Amino acid sequence: MSKTILNPRPNFDDIFMELAKNLARRSHCLKAQVGAVLAKDTRIISIGYNGPPAGTHNCDEEFPETGCPRDAKGSCSLALHAEQNAILYAVKNGSNIEGSTLYITLAPCIACARVIYTMKIQKVLYLDSYAAYKGIGVEEGVEFLRRFGVEVEQYGAGTGVVL
Ligand SMILES: [Zn+2]
Ligand SMILES: [Zn+2]
Repeated sequence: MSKTILNPRPNFDDIFMELAKNLARRSHCLKAQVGAVLAKDTRIISIGYNGPPAGTHNCDEEFPETGCPRDAKGSCSLALHAEQNAILYAVKNGSNIEGSTLYITLAPCIACARVIYTMKIQKVLYLDSYAAYKGIGVEEGVEFLRRFGVEVEQYGAGTGVVL
């Protein structure tokens, strides 16, 4: 059977990153919307998006005028980051995430990078640059991870992947 050029059979990286992008749209945060998928051997272990812990705040409903309360770096001070939520859910449920791959729509911040490294996640694929988003010079989370042996790639960079 022939495949059409317009609709190539997606690989798992495409599928998981598409899911991460969809999950980002569920975020209640006004400051940023980020989605994450944790997968291993083509199977999903956990998912997450950024926001305050379940059962606490919904930024968009509580602060529609003023926006999320900011921390010193200008981020939402109440939110767990998408990758933190994905990792915490996996750990809470006893999943083994060592050797897994993290798909994330925004490159990890340095705080998340420390957690990703500690949990022995093997690879990180990210969509957008955290440094560009924050207007800072270095991709500090990515540099930290690479320096200590975690594989990190920007998804689709220069490959013209059609989703
Ligand atoms: Zn928020
Ligand atoms: Zn983070």
